[in-house]
Amino acid sequence: MLVFNQKSELTAFLESQTIEFKSVGFVPTMGALHSGHLSLIQKSLENNDLTVVSIFVNPTQFNNNDDLKKYPRTLESDIEKIKKTNNKVIIYAPSVDDIYNNSVESASFNFDGIENQMEGKHRPGHFDGVGTIVKKLFQIVNPTNAYFGKKDFQQLQIVKKMVAKEKLIVKIIGCEILREQNGLAMSSRNERLSTETREKASLIFQFLRKSKVLFQKKSAQEVSKFVIESFKNINKFDLEYFEICDEEKLLPCLKKNKLKKYRAFIAVNVEGIRLIDNISLTK
Ligand code: AMP
Repeated sequence: MLVFNQKSELTAFLESQTIEFKSVGFVPTMGALHSGHLSLIQKSLENNDLTVVSIFVNPTQFNNNDDLKKYPRTLESDIEKIKKTNNKVIIYAPSVDDIYNNSVESASFNFDGIENQMEGKHRPGHFDGVGTIVKKLFQIVNPTNAYFGKKDFQQLQIVKKMVAKEKLIVKIIGCEILREQNGLAMSSRNERLSTETREKASLIFQFLRKSKVLFQKKSAQEVSKFVIESFKNINKFDLEYFEICDEEKLLPCLKKNKLKKYRAFIAVNVEGIRLIDNISLTK
């Protein structure tokens, strides 16, 4: 199992391999791996000659220092999980210095407004951090295909936008959301929930499913009102936002358009932990 901590070593290795493989699949992660991450890795393995997984908690995409400090870091067990999936996966687990060279700062991006909706609105600077790290990692790994989860749907659209605007030669593949048995979207942050709350958090997906049913007959505003009002009566679960937006521009749905695909997006704070999820409303 190859684990690189330095970009110079990783790129030297990848360059030495160019004759033997045609496609490189890349899965960027922040570690604390769960089955959702592993499903992305599996997809990359199926479709590429070589798969690189990065494990790096990127400081510039955190707008909350406490969240950054508390983010789970479990490199040893992450390596074990990947090894069990496939021991030919190449792991890149750099230090902050290796990535940022003492200047831990984001570049500034224009994602045509996608960055100002939902997560962007509630986490200032977040998508500049995402754009910065993804661009840096793409430069280092130079992947043919890169895999991102629809769990972070807005992030997926941001990355696609960056690739299109900067004319990067990489195909971005969106992967379905993996859920715990009770429906809660898998997330590294779930580990920090108490057992009781983790069980109760299934209500987030229940509301998304309910909104999908309601959206068949009701307007986006009516559905949103229902969810927002319902959350007022749920103890401990603070709704940060619930929005129905089109998939492409992530703009709120003011009036349904048959030609557009819509999704419901939700962010909830519980026990000091921020959980996000989304569901397609049109498929
Ligand atoms: P993270 O480590 O949270 O930055 O996530 C790394 C990648 O895994 C991102 O592309 C996420 O969207 C994806 N991911 C996280 N959770 C899930 C999940 N439950 N199902 C599918 N993909 C996921």
